[in-house]
Amino acid sequence: MHEKCGVVGISLDGREAARPLYYSLYALQHRGQESAGIVTHDGFQQYEHVEMGLVGDAFDSEDLAALNGPQGIGHIRYPTEGGVNECCAQPFSVSFKSGSLGLAHNGNLVNADEVRDTLAALGHAFTSAGDTEVIAHDLARNLLEADLVRAVKSTMDRIHGSYSLTIMHDETVLGVRDPQGNRPLVLGELDDGYVLASESAAVDTLDGELIRDVKPGELIVLSPDGAGYDSYQLIDAPQTAHCFFEHVYFARPDSILNDELVYDVRRELGRQLWEESGIETDVVMPVPDSGRAFASGYAEAATEAGAGTEFAEGLMKNRYVGRTFIMPTQDERERAVRLKLNPIKSTIRGRTVTIIDDSVVRGTTSTQLVSLLRDAGAEEIHMRVGSPPIVAPCYLGIDMASRDELIAADMTIEEIEAEIEADSLAYLSIDAITEALNRSRADLCLGCVTGEYPYDVEGEATDRDVTRPTVGRETSHGD
Ligand code: SF4
Repeated sequence: MHEKCGVVGISLDGREAARPLYYSLYALQHRGQESAGIVTHDGFQQYEHVEMGLVGDAFDSEDLAALNGPQGIGHIRYPTEGGVNECCAQPFSVSFKSGSLGLAHNGNLVNADEVRDTLAALGHAFTSAGDTEVIAHDLARNLLEADLVRAVKSTMDRIHGSYSLTIMHDETVLGVRDPQGNRPLVLGELDDGYVLASESAAVDTLDGELIRDVKPGELIVLSPDGAGYDSYQLIDAPQTAHCFFEHVYFARPDSILNDELVYDVRRELGRQLWEESGIETDVVMPVPDSGRAFASGYAEAATEAGAGTEFAEGLMKNRYVGRTFIMPTQDERERAVRLKLNPIKSTIRGRTVTIIDDSVVRGTTSTQLVSLLRDAGAEEIHMRVGSPPIVAPCYLGIDMASRDELIAADMTIEEIEAEIEADSLAYLSIDAITEALNRSRADLCLGCVTGEYPYDVEGEATDRDVTRPTVGRETSHGD
């Protein structure tokens, strides 16, 4: 299960934007490893470099030197289930009658096919199956008839789904977040300009100051001289739909999302896990690295409650092995877990163990972990999970398993416990999530743990009053 993308946009007062964009993409590398791209503008023309691979492999000094101009956007992308896909690498860029346009998208539209069909009927030719190109074509068309802000509003009125975008129209950099704010986007200030990024860790990397989250439905326009920005609240939705998994898993622990440090949220979730299903064992250990903050909160709460549980690292990670989900077959994924983690036998042998992970998707990793610990001599193995069971897929920009691959889609917790051969298994409740995030259920996306989505996803239930917009070209440009 992985985030598909990270985006960034920068506008500086004269300094070249290519290197700061490159460093920002490095800071966002956890959000995508398939491709990396940067598009810049020097006031006269657009420059672009998009390549497959990690950020460090996609650019060399010459590539960066050729990306001229103090404004630019960047993107990193994660492989889809079908494997690498060069046509969908971003930013997507296009030149048209009113100038040039570059677009970087994090999220997933649920009505991209309808918008594409409408535009195709009007003569637009598409080169990819991606929804970013759909947004780019729609926006380019609107820019022929309206100013920048009204053109963006018109596109927002037509598209439906999850999107955090950084856009470059000639030398102007924009950031837009969908009306329900499903994916994150933050605004930061640098000494000589402004930055928009998926996560505040990218702002930190540039030695900048986080200003705030871009609001759901808001458009931020960075001034081309790097001196400031304008904000336009283009759509006000009655509810938000923040992806709770950003806090649980996707975002870096050192990022601040919705005014909360992700690390603190994860520790609080770990504390709640102890409150809800704590069990006294000799040792509590995280699955590295994803379970670390949860395990530290869990162990702290256990100690406060007087449990004699020791917090220890019992599994060592080989940092040079690729993430398991890059492996395309189940067999290779299983082998990769063994390559990736090695137990510290002296911590485990003859002891009762609680192992803490952030989530369970297919159950493959959990089964392998329990087997590893058993082989290392654990007397009992209790698994605690820092999120509720995942029962449905994600249609909103997360590369998750399909429904029939999700272990919790058709198995009870007791059945999963037996399947992974743990002595006990417990998940965190949805109420604990809403409490730790300080948000009501109505303001979060919980689609993958409830099967009810905050957007109108074809063939799925929704937990709120949402309808897809009418996609015809008669949509007005608004105020
Ligand atoms: S379905 Fe799950 S992973 Fe996807 S956006 Fe919603 S909460 Fe996040």
